[in-house]
Amino acid sequence: MTRVYNETRRILVTGGAGFLGSHLCDRLLADGHDVICADNFFTGSRRNVAHLLPNPSFELLRHDVTFPLYLEVDEIYNLACPASPIHYQHDPVQTTKTSVHGAINMLGLAKRVGAKILQASTSEVYGDPDVHPQEESYWGRVNPIGPRSCYDEGKRCAETLFFDYHRQHGLKIKIARIFNTYGPRMHPADGRVVSNFIVQAIRGEPITLYGNGEQTRSFCYVDDLIDGLIRLMNSPDEITGPINIGNPNEFSMLQLAELVRDQTGSRSEFVFRSLPVDDPRQRQPDIRRAAELLGWKPNINLAEGLASTIDYFKKVC
Ligand code: NAD
Ligand code: UDP
Ligand code: UDP
Repeated sequence: MTRVYNETRRILVTGGAGFLGSHLCDRLLADGHDVICADNFFTGSRRNVAHLLPNPSFELLRHDVTFPLYLEVDEIYNLACPASPIHYQHDPVQTTKTSVHGAINMLGLAKRVGAKILQASTSEVYGDPDVHPQEESYWGRVNPIGPRSCYDEGKRCAETLFFDYHRQHGLKIKIARIFNTYGPRMHPADGRVVSNFIVQAIRGEPITLYGNGEQTRSFCYVDDLIDGLIRLMNSPDEITGPINIGNPNEFSMLQLAELVRDQTGSRSEFVFRSLPVDDPRQRQPDIRRAAELLGWKPNINLAEGLASTIDYFKKVC
């Protein structure tokens, strides 16, 4: 039976105990849906969703998406995958399996029950881009055999699987290419730049800039990102994506370090460390497609988003 848009839906969020997934569960429950969160707790934790456990519309499953999962749901948000370089390089074979076998299992589930399925893809599919800003039609410049490849190529293969299930089996698919996102519930030790700089500044430790700090990223606040994912899921079926979701305001790591130091009132010094292998020099989303097709744009600027992220880290560090 076809369900109408505003009805309560049964929604599976894989990776729902992680940073983005837990915010997504919050928002879907607030919108009145039933949510099943499936997570193997590799980088996520029960703590991120502990406040949801008393909610009768919420269910938490310990499950690894590389294994089959049999449930009855209307929609699937497939977020399961470690996202920070430290974590996804810890067990690179498992990272590729999570993206590829995880996608196959979730697509198989979607196919069996006729669910709509959204994939959390990444700006990393563009690799170290030679086109700037990156629009969705750009095929990317990815090293297939480097230390980041388990993540980049795993996510690229997942996109391939999504489109093949769509063409071959008529599945309703949505692909979001997520650019660097930050906010409360980021893992304090995941090595990502925003969490590293904030934690270092709060503790008065040196702020570690890799390379000369001139490489750029564009940072999206988590609430904006979640709004983009939900708009994409709720968009008409012919909108499959891929669609970039991110904030196009670009900053160098040096600018970010200065902002964090100012906003925390820290006196941490800056130290320079070597640049990781295959570290992209610049990254900025072209979000015209999201604006046109989803009516979406980010609303929270970096200073505002950093303020609430700093408040969170002051409580947990
Ligand atoms: P995260 O590490 O906080 O969340 C990932 C979650 O997936 C964790 O809860 C982890 O325990 C779970 N997980 C990992 N492997 C699993 C498996 N095999 N089975 C079940 N659960 C598993 O990361 P995040 O930042 O919340 O990222 C969520 C998704 O968004 C990921 O797919 C990531 O690739 C994508 N993404 C995030 C960003 C970002 O800036 N945060 C950028 C691009 C893409
Ligand atoms: N699968 C799952 N849950 C389901 C249906 C399928 O986890 O409800 C998994 C199962 O492991 C299967 C995979 O999804 O191998 C792909 O399913 P598909 O129907 O595409 O192919 P199959 O391998 O069953 O022919
Ligand atoms: N980075 C840094 N200091 C840190 C952590 C990261 O200068 O303590 C740099 C890193 O080299 C990269 C950028 O910040 O150029 C973003 O890194 P992150 O791991 O957050 O995201 P990604 O490289 O996946 O975009």
